[in-house]
Amino acid sequence: MRRVGIMGGTFNPIHNGHLAIAQKAREQFALDQVLFMPSGVPYMKDQREVLPIETRCAMTALAIKDLPGFELSEIEMSDVAQGKNTYTCDTLQKLKIVDPEAAYYFILGADSLYAIEKWEKPALIFQNCTILAAVRREEPENSQAATKPLSAQAQYLREKYHASVEILEFAGIDISSTKIREKVRKGESLRGLLPEAVERYIIAEHLYIA
Ligand code: NAP
Repeated sequence: MRRVGIMGGTFNPIHNGHLAIAQKAREQFALDQVLFMPSGVPYMKDQREVLPIETRCAMTALAIKDLPGFELSEIEMSDVAQGKNTYTCDTLQKLKIVDPEAAYYFILGADSLYAIEKWEKPALIFQNCTILAAVRREEPENSQAATKPLSAQAQYLREKYHASVEILEFAGIDISSTKIREKVRKGESLRGLLPEAVERYIIAEHLYIA
């Protein structure tokens, strides 16, 4: 069975934190491939801030172009065309149809592991993939990480949903898309935060400055 990782994200923009957890997942779980999947309509984010799917896909393609085993998936683009919110449970079902023989591993950060029960049909998500969760060095504000360790949350989900949840052995990396957008607005350097090709694209296309 092919082991396929899914690195889903708003990717507004994609950065080295996303690439690092995907790389770690690929190594630790011997994944044959990782699909980088920009979210079609990330309804939980402030829509005024989110760039069009085409722009986020273009940045994602640039970020992974020289990285073996990483591929762009545009499967969630159809949600935009249909004017519907993007739900991971639906996407996983579509992926199962595209490749019924694959075993899917959905890669996510700590905050998503605490929030996943509020997503659409979490039981269906757990039925169709293994979750690989990574810590973050600096937990975003309002994170529950301070009160509940990631391993405890993973165990809770395993018991409640018979979910397959694994923790990535990852030290964390202090980068966020929000900080990158702030830096662009202030004209600060993005060195080390995201691939140079993505930085050049952001500057050339005047993204995030308004
Ligand atoms: P994002 O902000 O672009 O982040 C993508 C992933 O990377 C998140 O899991 C995030 O973890 C993680 N990450 C970012 N920076 C990191 C760092 N420095 N270190 C470690 N991890 C880091 O995307 P998103 O909006 O959270 O969406 C993630 C996926 O969840 C997408 O596929 C989206 O469609 C899905 N989602 C589904 C539903 C639903 O089905 N109802 C609802 C919401 C999201 P954190 O979670 O810790 O930020």
